[in-house]
Amino acid sequence: MTQPSFWTLDGLYLNQPGIIAVYAIPHDYGIALIDCGPGSTRTQILRALDARGLAPHQITDVLLTHIHLDHAGAAGWWAQQGARVHVHPVGAPHLLNPEKLLASALRIYGDDMERLWGAFLPVPREQLIEQTDNAALSIGGQEFLALHTPGHAEHHIAYLWNGICFSGDVGGVRVGGLKHTRLPTPPPEFHLEKWRASVARLRAANFKFIAPAHFGLYDDPATQLDQLARNLDALETWLQAEMPNAPTTETFRADFAALFETLARADGYTRAQTAVFEAAAGSAMSADGVYRYWKKYRAA
Ligand SMILES: [Zn+2]
Repeated sequence: MTQPSFWTLDGLYLNQPGIIAVYAIPHDYGIALIDCGPGSTRTQILRALDARGLAPHQITDVLLTHIHLDHAGAAGWWAQQGARVHVHPVGAPHLLNPEKLLASALRIYGDDMERLWGAFLPVPREQLIEQTDNAALSIGGQEFLALHTPGHAEHHIAYLWNGICFSGDVGGVRVGGLKHTRLPTPPPEFHLEKWRASVARLRAANFKFIAPAHFGLYDDPATQLDQLARNLDALETWLQAEMPNAPTTETFRADFAALFETLARADGYTRAQTAVFEAAAGSAMSADGVYRYWKKYRAA
């Protein structure tokens, strides 16, 4: 099967290629974007559109997989240009009123917030469209299907289009065109069992290609989903051994990083190759998400 035509726009996040993608799908009267990247990559995304002869006013719709800053940060700006923004109902209040989301991000990133993520503007209510599980969207003759796929974030949606799954973060992080897939497990909503169920859901959807936001299109979705399932199992086994020792946060983060390094090395990766994953899914933040999950759901 040849792949249907769309564009992969590289936001060159922090001047690194291949970290944050925005997918642009042409339709009868414009372009739909799958995720839009953070405010800090907006200039580069505009450049990438321009290089393909596309203008900002042609963007009619932004389909957000979820509202994390690296996927949704620029959505309000696109709304200002006239685009509709699609999101799961649980994510919608944070787009209408991003203050709480930004306050918690500020606690994590502090003075680095602007450099890392740029502006996050609100989306006006009249341009916000809520998408729930199994919703079918038709935009200018292009058909999309929304799959509610929690685990990475409670409100996560994967979009199916023409045999491609735009998997946001629930399909894992797979960078450098390589095989290894990493679990991005940031706080506050990482949930192991829900993610496992979402992997099963994606498997049953039976698409031909998978396109994670981090990064690019791959023609072996079954391999990627197998890796995700295996990594979820490995993470659970590791947690069951680690947590009875009551590790400090520092120890937990270090041991967690070692686990992810081991999983990548098992797939034949060099240390340099695994380093690129740090930019796309930092292991300290992923460790914190897993720690929180354990305390909340498993520690009893
Ligand atoms: Zn995310």
